[in-house]
Amino acid sequence: DSNKFQAIISHCKEYGFIFPSSEIYDGLSAVYDYGQNGSELKKNVRDYWWKWMTQLQDNIVGIDAAIFMHPTTWKASGHVDNFSDPMIDNKDSKKRYRVDHLIEGFAETLPEAEGAELIASMEKLLAAEDFAGLKQLIESRKIKCAISGTVNWTDVRQFNLMFSTEFGSVSGEEGDNMVYLRPETAQGIFVNFLNVQKSGRMKIPFGIAQIGKAFRNEIVARQFIFRMREFEQMEMQFFIRPGTQKEWYEFWKTERMKWHLSLGIPESRYRFHDHVKLAHYADAACDIEYDFPIGFKEVEGIHSRTDFDLKNHQEFSRKKMQYFDPEVGPDGKPYGNYIPYVIETSIGLDRTVMMLLSEAYEEQDLGTPDKPDSRVVLRFPAKLAPVKLGILPLTKKDGLPEIAQELMAECRSVFKCFYEEKDTIGKRYRRMDAIGTPFCITIDHQTKEDGTVTIRYRDTMEQERIPLKAVKDLVDKAIQ
Ligand code: ATP
Repeated sequence: DSNKFQAIISHCKEYGFIFPSSEIYDGLSAVYDYGQNGSELKKNVRDYWWKWMTQLQDNIVGIDAAIFMHPTTWKASGHVDNFSDPMIDNKDSKKRYRVDHLIEGFAETLPEAEGAELIASMEKLLAAEDFAGLKQLIESRKIKCAISGTVNWTDVRQFNLMFSTEFGSVSGEEGDNMVYLRPETAQGIFVNFLNVQKSGRMKIPFGIAQIGKAFRNEIVARQFIFRMREFEQMEMQFFIRPGTQKEWYEFWKTERMKWHLSLGIPESRYRFHDHVKLAHYADAACDIEYDFPIGFKEVEGIHSRTDFDLKNHQEFSRKKMQYFDPEVGPDGKPYGNYIPYVIETSIGLDRTVMMLLSEAYEEQDLGTPDKPDSRVVLRFPAKLAPVKLGILPLTKKDGLPEIAQELMAECRSVFKCFYEEKDTIGKRYRRMDAIGTPFCITIDHQTKEDGTVTIRYRDTMEQERIPLKAVKDLVDKAIQ
């Protein structure tokens, strides 16, 4: 629901997770900055994905390609010609809308069956690129816009989503200096396919993973970090023998869902959505959708990209993009030279952060009839929480801060700790709950006598005494 969504956005700002970019200048549309806690959370997700792909899987290696690429890359990939969304302008208000967003937004206001019917008609028209039909659909449903009354629409047009900028010079020739900010990280993988394969002596099937920024000039930027103009992708291209794409596509659907479930999110919060309209490069594609407070929406795409990209790079660059497969096929002959097929898994880091925030955020009423009380808690999996351990001396005197600082010195090289001695313990616990710290340790006078401390668990709020010496290992084990 939208109340929860708004509450999460405010919470993110108040507790140092996410701020609007350049906020002192009233922000920049669909651009956000991660604060002290948000950047830790994001880094933990990034590291978790990276380890899962490049360390725990067979035969996948990582790269880090540049954001700028030779402009021909984007001709070969089809992005110059095809990476666009249909849009429409309101002639009176001069407002621009993405056609699918406009129709989807309207469908949400309709009774369920009628809304679904409208979406189905839209998807058919989009797949057929029937722009006149889309305009008609918009007009026939009298879709509302910011200005009430009759709306004066323009025709539906394509709008390319790539940002461009200028280099000093690309080829040395005048006028040939336009470069794009990459709209996906995948192409950095494709152009390096042979570099990695040869230098790493990789044998098919193998994968190349990459995490990095991507940029899209989204027409209607909305919904917080769900749709940004600058965002981060975690992509993996898996190179396979032609003809095996169906099996590998299913394999990666299953594998990726396992990863999602390993975030501690139940299966019922996810669903697969098969694409009706396939992107220009795909022969099969689906999304993994998560049930956000704003409804089920895409977090990750899994695409069977055929040999589309490598074949086009071979054509445009005139460099062979082939692999020699020495393995013997069923006909007794080696498979020999071919352009590999590709299965891609592509997940948005920011959308994953938003998913984790949505799943973790909980407002709890802890009050009794005579004593109202509540808390906001972020129930992140311990391994992803920005801060793992809060270290809190009960008072600022009697040697308690010194013991706490010793614990801090012992633990901080292993995981992220936060030390605080101000305010009551209750208030300090609440602040740790609000950023999702799974464990707090309180050092009190008894610690000096018997070497025990109070550990307090974020989710249950239960407390127990454990030996001071056991703290580091306990937390370390819980965050693995
Ligand atoms: P959408 O339909 O929501 O525009 P898409 O299908 O164009 O997304 P892909 O091109 O498949 O997205 O990109 C892969 C992933 O990158 C998406 O699943 C999403 O998590 C992320 N992503 C794409 N565009 C954005 C964006 N503007 N802001 C944040 N994340 C994005």
